[in-house]
Amino acid sequence: MCVTAHPDDEAGGFGGSLRLYHDRGVETCVICLTPGQAATHRGGAANDQELAALRRKEFAAACEILKVSRGIVLDYPDGQLHRQDLYKVVCDLTLHVRQFRPHVLMTFGPDGSVTGHTDHSMASIFATMAFHWAGRNNRYPDQLTGKIAPHQTQKLYYSTVNFTLPDRQPVTLPPATAIIEIGDYLEAKIAAFKAHASQAPLWALIESHVRQRGRKEMFHLAARVTPGLIEQETDLFAGIKEDI
Ligand SMILES: [Zn+2]
Repeated sequence: MCVTAHPDDEAGGFGGSLRLYHDRGVETCVICLTPGQAATHRGGAANDQELAALRRKEFAAACEILKVSRGIVLDYPDGQLHRQDLYKVVCDLTLHVRQFRPHVLMTFGPDGSVTGHTDHSMASIFATMAFHWAGRNNRYPDQLTGKIAPHQTQKLYYSTVNFTLPDRQPVTLPPATAIIEIGDYLEAKIAAFKAHASQAPLWALIESHVRQRGRKEMFHLAARVTPGLIEQETDLFAGIKEDI
């Protein structure tokens, strides 16, 4: 499961890994908290509602390219995640975790990734709390009726990179503890980004950043169900137990 803030985040930070793990037989899910209605690039949309509808379709097209099993866009306001009720947003995400029951959850770090976007930071905080709380029967107990049971996800990863952008506010990135070789899935990642046609003015810049980064995606292991020392990893599913 991958938790993001805006349509197109799924491609940039996570796209290669989403497609790679799909091809290894993993069922994947992306939950995007906002429909991206505050974007600078409007794709000809007359208002926020039109842009949201357009970006939901673009997100679905990107998920198709990345072979995401379940792609969901929630309806929180773009650019305003820091003003939302933490307990409510985490409640929503906790329910998704308890329903989808992932082995691995990935999201941004609280740094907000290389752009330092506030919404990315908040997606991280909400997803981190949902990761920790979904497994406890004393968190959102009202959800625990019928078929919904607590679910302890085994690992939490934050996406990271090994560079910072010049002329931006400073970001302090989490160190990479997992390097995933995405190989030719780099092309799927770029194609998924280009499914976001409303963001076409950003394509060239993003493509150059992505190609500069090479055929790898980096993550920071932020939590693990098994306590102990951290090891450098090349597989997000290393040490995952199927039967939990
Ligand atoms: Zn974003």
